[in-house]
Amino acid sequence: MDKEFDQAHLWHPYTSLTNPTKNYPVESADGVYLNLTDGKRLIDGMSSWWCCIHGYNHPVLNQAVVDQLNKVSHVMFGGLTHEPAINLGKELLAITDESLNAIFFADSGSVAVEVAMKMASQYCFEQGLHEKNQFMTFSKGYHGDTFGAMSVCDPDTGMHHKFSKLLNQHIFVDAPHCGFDQAWDEKYLLEFEQQLVKNHKKIIAVIFEPIVQGTGGMNFYSPHYLKRVRALCDQYNVLLIFDEIATGFGRTGKLFAYEHADVVPDIMCLGKSLTGGYMTLSAVMCNSMISDGIGTNFMHGPTFMANPLACAVALASIKLLLSSDWQKTVNRIESQLTVELEINRQNPLVKDVRVLGAIGVIELLEPLDWTVFQDKMVEKGVWVRPFMNLLYLMPPFIIEAEQLTHITSALTATLNEEIPC
Ligand SMILES: *Cc1c(COP(=O)(O)O)cnc(C)c1O
Repeated sequence: MDKEFDQAHLWHPYTSLTNPTKNYPVESADGVYLNLTDGKRLIDGMSSWWCCIHGYNHPVLNQAVVDQLNKVSHVMFGGLTHEPAINLGKELLAITDESLNAIFFADSGSVAVEVAMKMASQYCFEQGLHEKNQFMTFSKGYHGDTFGAMSVCDPDTGMHHKFSKLLNQHIFVDAPHCGFDQAWDEKYLLEFEQQLVKNHKKIIAVIFEPIVQGTGGMNFYSPHYLKRVRALCDQYNVLLIFDEIATGFGRTGKLFAYEHADVVPDIMCLGKSLTGGYMTLSAVMCNSMISDGIGTNFMHGPTFMANPLACAVALASIKLLLSSDWQKTVNRIESQLTVELEINRQNPLVKDVRVLGAIGVIELLEPLDWTVFQDKMVEKGVWVRPFMNLLYLMPPFIIEAEQLTHITSALTATLNEEIPC
């Protein structure tokens, strides 16, 4: 593989071409394993960034792609329609709250967030609510890298400060800090409530990641936030958008994170594991108050909207998930991570260890040199990709107990080695 070309010409996520980082060459992948060109096999602890819940090269998902490929791989969605979109749409309506009954298929998570923000603002426009021109969100959020999405990402951890002059200014309140199992106190929502009371006439919608804030800080928080935010949004006539791009499809132990609180948003974004990681696809779902309220044409329409290959594999992935005992599987991963990561609490570098569903996080006091850390993990046959001061795992659901132990023991061993900061 021409690694020199890769280093010289291909940007990787959040990297420099003048000071390139190392990229490991993948030849193929199967199950939980990434197969490198030098023959090394790595157990993937990341599910390729939350996506590959069924692992790689899954025969059922492969077949779904091949079957669709032999019919039509792509066709415009403007003026045409197809079975994969319709069947996926039916499945999404069946597995989400009955109030969510309109779907917009988009190309990626970031675009889904753009679409959700446009849906909410066009709704307000059509209602004559012309003073509304801002969104409200929690700090430590991550919603993607396009301009609308960037504008609601955490201003500090969101990696976007270099574009801040081009971003619309929205209202941020302190990230949720009542932990998932912690006793609720109204004080946790005081700042949020004050800001909402003060600014609700200007606020189109509140947007955030329910239960788990992902890339902005790997923060798990109490379902009470969702209940209270929903009630306040109703009281002050502000829309509610949940970004379930990372949390959707079982990752937190519920099919969707909003189920932890029995609270339903007006608009919801799905992506990442929607296709089992096979292809890029996202979906924005909304209730009929939004779709009826927009009434007229909704002004968005990507070229690759509802790509048939992506829809077909998404449907197959959801069916595969639902036909498995996924809840038991996620609970098993949760228990195992809880036991096996706990020992790291004794490490003086470690600030906190937390687990929810199939997500395990070791928060350090300071970031380490993750390149050195990653090399050491690769030597031990494990793929992880820590960021900031966060070392985190979200393995494919198909991972076996011994494979997961391989990951956690490699992590613990590496954390005990000499790693520069
Ligand atoms: C990854 C992510 C996005 C962005 O999705 P892309 O497909 O990378 O554009 C948005 N929101 C959340 C919560 C995410 O985890």
